[in-house]
Amino acid sequence: MEIFNEIKFDSQGLIPAITQDIHTKEVLMVAYMNKEALKKTLETGNAHYYSRSRNKLWLKGETSGHFQRVKEISIDCDLDAILMQVEQVGAACHTGHQSCFYRSLKNNELIEKQANTQDHNKFEVLQQVYDVIVDRRKNPKEGSYTNYLFDKGIDKMLKKVGEESAEVIIASKNNDKAEITYEMSDLLYHLMVVMVQTGVQWEDLCNELMKRR
Ligand code: AMP
Ligand code: ZN
Ligand code: ZN
Ligand code: ZN
Repeated sequence: MEIFNEIKFDSQGLIPAITQDIHTKEVLMVAYMNKEALKKTLETGNAHYYSRSRNKLWLKGETSGHFQRVKEISIDCDLDAILMQVEQVGAACHTGHQSCFYRSLKNNELIEKQANTQDHNKFEVLQQVYDVIVDRRKNPKEGSYTNYLFDKGIDKMLKKVGEESAEVIIASKNNDKAEITYEMSDLLYHLMVVMVQTGVQWEDLCNELMKRR
């Protein structure tokens, strides 16, 4: 392939690859690829690297089962670094941590990060809940409240949006942070059901909000 001659593999035939979770945007690991690893990755859709310690082509997940399905490959401005966005099966790091970057350097010491300070996008949960709602509509589940709402239809959904809005108002009047959090979550969930019902995606809302900046 043409592009292979443009990419700047170093004197040892390697190029660094940064691997990122496509959903959470968490940086998972950094490793090296050679031409063969890049070719195999493109061919199979599974991330391959070149292991410098073992001096061989390495299919990520070959022993652990923690494969990486590659969704997008980007190359930087001067063609000497690769960014791979992947769907990670299990943990990316062989230590069992989701990301290899699970320690931070503070005061000359390596300190293990707390799970809740680890670098992933917490807003991702909004998309995850949305996806669950979409899935429920496609594959109804016994006793699911979401399916109950889909069965009842848009009027019932909107009635719930009205009720939950009123509860948000009351909670905010009470100035009770826990209650506000709970009721706003209720409201957001019901809004997401309406979004799914009417075909509005989070992306549409984000685009609209971005336009207003
Ligand atoms: P795996 O590719 O996950 O089956 O792991 C095979 C071997 O590759 C492990 O025993 C480690 O030596 C090495 N390895 C796996 N994941 C990483 C990683 N994220 N960074 C560095 N080495 C790794
Ligand atoms: Zn560069
Ligand atoms: Zn690691
Ligand atoms: Zn409520």
